Amino acid sequence: MLDLTGKNALVTGIANNRSIAWGIAQQLHQAGANLGVTYLPDEKGRFEKKVRELVEPLNPSIFLPCDVQNEPQIEEGFQTIAAQWGKLDILIHCLAFANKEDLSGEFSATSREGFTQALEISSYSLTRLAKAAKPLMNEGGSIVTLTYLGGVKVIPNYNVMGIAKSALEMSVRYLAAELGPKNIRVNAISAGPIRTLASSAVGGILDMIHHVEQVAPLRRTVTQTEVGNTAAFLCSDLASGITGQIIYVDAGYEIMGM
Ligand code: NAD
Repeated sequence: MLDLTGKNALVTGIANNRSIAWGIAQQLHQAGANLGVTYLPDEKGRFEKKVRELVEPLNPSIFLPCDVQNEPQIEEGFQTIAAQWGKLDILIHCLAFANKEDLSGEFSATSREGFTQALEISSYSLTRLAKAAKPLMNEGGSIVTLTYLGGVKVIPNYNVMGIAKSALEMSVRYLAAELGPKNIRVNAISAGPIRTLASSAVGGILDMIHHVEQVAPLRRTVTQTEVGNTAAFLCSDLASGITGQIIYVDAGYEIMGM
């Protein structure tokens, strides 16, 4: 049985009720995990209020700001986790960012700043958070990140985010190799296209979803709950032999050649 009772799980990347991280947090909670939630702080505190209200029914015992570009915030956050929980079992990395102008049109037009920022937030942050989580996962652990087919194949408009996802997927393999001897497993879920705040910045996202609905073996795209269920599985003992993998939760779209 899928049981996460007694596990401390930190979930990053909840922005609203469409977020994939929200689907994951709900499934982890349902499986009995004790949740910690981070949010991206903004000057007016709007994100904090929104996320706090949303996650309240899941009773998170930790609720922290975490901008992955902010080193002191990462350090303080993990100090709080160490002080309050002592150990961390599960880390969900479910965040990404690229400038909207870099998510349509010609890839060669990507600016140096846009490229650097997209890679720092969307790829490097996994390594940075894994470094912070490692000493707290002394009883083993599971790290799960979110990727997309655009990191493996060319998807129109995905552009710089494809490069970021490619780096993210290779980071999963290097981290899995390094952390495996400590029984920390690192995997990625490659989700099919879902309408969210982040995906709405990708040019033509609705056309992508429509295309998947016509072509994918299951003739539909996937839900946040389906991704959440797979994340809960990967974090559980049922997946104890799986690490360094990219698991496609995409209604089968990835296998199709045409
Ligand atoms: P979302 O907009 O709900 O989530 C993106 C999150 O990234 C937000 O919570 C935002 O606050 C966070 N974020 C951005 N910059 C940050 C920073 N500097 N520090 C900390 N957090 C930051 O969108 P989503 O689609 O749920 O995205 C979650 C993950 O799923 C992303 O990695 C995305 O690439 C991936 N993904 C999405 C789809 C899709 O179609 N929606 C498909 C495959 C993979």
